[in-house]
Amino acid sequence: MAATAAATTTTSASCFLTRNPNPNPKVHHLLSFKSYPKPLPLPHLPVRRRSCFIAAAAAEEAEAVVPFDFEKPREECGVVGIVGHPDAAQLCSLALHALQHRGQEGAGIAASDLSTLRSSTGLGLVSEVFDPSKPGPSLASLTGPAAIGHVRYSTAGAAASIHNVQPFLASYRFGQLAVAHNGNLVNYPSLRSSLEETGSIFNTSSDTEAILHLIATSKSRPFLSRVAEACSSLRGAYSLLFLTADKLLAVRDPHGFRPLVLGYLPRSNGAPPAVVFASETCALDLIGARYEREVEPGEAVIVDARTLEISTSCLMPAKPRKACVFELIYFALPQSIVFSHPVYESRYSFGATLAAESPVPGADVVIPVPDSGFFAALGFAEGSGVPFQQGLIRSHYVGRTFIQPSQAIRDLGVKLKLSPIRGILEGKSVVVVDDSIVRGTTSSKIVRLIRDAGAKEVHMRIASPPIIGSCYYGVDTPSSEELISNRMDTEGVRKEIGADSLAFLSLESLRGLLGDEAPSFCEACFSGNYPVPPVDYVDAKAKEPLYVA
Ligand code: SF4
Repeated sequence: MAATAAATTTTSASCFLTRNPNPNPKVHHLLSFKSYPKPLPLPHLPVRRRSCFIAAAAAEEAEAVVPFDFEKPREECGVVGIVGHPDAAQLCSLALHALQHRGQEGAGIAASDLSTLRSSTGLGLVSEVFDPSKPGPSLASLTGPAAIGHVRYSTAGAAASIHNVQPFLASYRFGQLAVAHNGNLVNYPSLRSSLEETGSIFNTSSDTEAILHLIATSKSRPFLSRVAEACSSLRGAYSLLFLTADKLLAVRDPHGFRPLVLGYLPRSNGAPPAVVFASETCALDLIGARYEREVEPGEAVIVDARTLEISTSCLMPAKPRKACVFELIYFALPQSIVFSHPVYESRYSFGATLAAESPVPGADVVIPVPDSGFFAALGFAEGSGVPFQQGLIRSHYVGRTFIQPSQAIRDLGVKLKLSPIRGILEGKSVVVVDDSIVRGTTSSKIVRLIRDAGAKEVHMRIASPPIIGSCYYGVDTPSSEELISNRMDTEGVRKEIGADSLAFLSLESLRGLLGDEAPSFCEACFSGNYPVPPVDYVDAKAKEPLYVA
């Protein structure tokens, strides 16, 4: 498997230069869609064994089935795990700060002192949950060399319930077990029903609890076999971290929808490096850990908390890789490397290609919708030769009060969150670049804001294709009928948001930029081609056939 091969190939994405329908020579040198080298095995840690552990016996092929922040789709969760450091829980809390953009509704950490697991969870930001000046969860109580942590924004399970905040910690006949999950199981409803029919009692409304039940009821031995058997029943997206008294186990679903990376943290005095897992490399950066590689789709990586020996296993039969392309478009922080791609470079190339594909003749200035449109706007400006300016200033002092599903608050929120700079916009033909449009309500307010600041023309450019379908793999999107591009074509959207012109990055160009890797990305919210049929959820969420642009 790729995880164990010492391959050093880099993936070419220079395909942009050959596939770009309207190349601009001025920007060629900036547009290579770089990939990082394929994963290398950890050179400095003892690897005890690498096995091929095919769990599901001939799995049933029928896949079961299945704020305001500018009303963007929201990433469900972020996870982090650290083993081999005396301050594992403290480091976990720091790493969770770096992943705060992946979930703001709750945070938690579970730690092991090699005999007992303890956990602290709470609602709110990491800094609020682990605020040492307040009574409540305390990092000081989370002793031991291994810990896992989680930040949550829910799509499965009630949002603001403390019961749904992870990591979940449970006791069963083989000891204690904690789990942190990023993703969404598309067969959760049927999975839960069948577990309840056989006597399982659920304490939460989260799909993650079903995984614990499956492990607890498994008759397999040892622990890895129980996890493998449980995973054979799961459909959908899961990047999982498990913690037992003396082991940390990282697992990624066989399609690899959600990211999960492995790194190590050097220690002084000749101590072996601590092993770190995280949803994004920005978490590794913050604590000074070095990125090694992705956990491969279908792979399980076990770290022994006493010896720091690492074992890797192919836990599930290989399936086509389907990494979420929206991580590159919007979710991940620009400084992260996701799916082996530097995020900021990806966004830059999306913007530059959009400039070549849908230029704005006579434009005076290119501005981003901050912060997510920043690198795409830079690429657009470079690709078009139009000056880049920060025409909208984002307030960093509007807190989560305004990340609320209330229309009244949202209406107010755009003005509170964004302020136009009249001197940059007045009398100008303005190109405003954003990463995506969901319902369209925020886009229309931004267009109005720019016009009210005196812009002569407002041209909106979106550095991703139109979103026409909901996500069922761990990203919170509205139902299909709420998605503006599912209801109308681009001209209809343009009229609705009041722009002088509107263009999206075409799906063909996005695929072209991804090059040979394009088939290994999920693009279901743009194409309607769902890699794992979301049958359990279709009635509830996607009631209408998808509009195809
Ligand atoms: S449907 Fe869209 S948001 Fe969901 S995993 Fe696929 S690409 Fe990502």
